[in-house]
Amino acid sequence: MNRIGFGTDIHRLVAGRPLILGGVQIESDLGGDGHSDADVLMHAAADAVLGALALGDLGTHFPNDDERWRNAASSQFLSYAVDLIRERGYAVANIDSVIDLEAPKLRPHIDAMRANLATALLIDIDQVSVKAKTGEKVDAVGTRAAVRAQAIVLVRKI
Ligand SMILES: [Zn+2]
Repeated sequence: MNRIGFGTDIHRLVAGRPLILGGVQIESDLGGDGHSDADVLMHAAADAVLGALALGDLGTHFPNDDERWRNAASSQFLSYAVDLIRERGYAVANIDSVIDLEAPKLRPHIDAMRANLATALLIDIDQVSVKAKTGEKVDAVGTRAAVRAQAIVLVRKI
């Protein structure tokens, strides 16, 4: 039996914070604001995995007023979500995702992000798709006010 999950996330971009996407730190004058490392791709992926089995969302499992998660590496949120579905007899089949960021260009970092997601999801890199788009200079992404990510995950009974 297959099930599908969807996740989306957005963080404000601010000066003085690192830009971390898919577990990769990217050279940038602006970084994601937030309680954890503000990794929108990891957060969207974790929400997608949780959503596939209707297990709530990231905020349910990791309240952002909990000091334990301050500046936490978000790969641990994704690993936690994967543990929850594996306890229920499911594994991830594949993931597709999109990052919306005006600058810098993400192409040089895509394969490193795919590798990090594959590790956390316990799947091969060829089961992981990461795409990058700009905001065409409009809306919160296009004006560099925010970075956004969306992910969709198929899980299968094992
Ligand atoms: Zn987030």
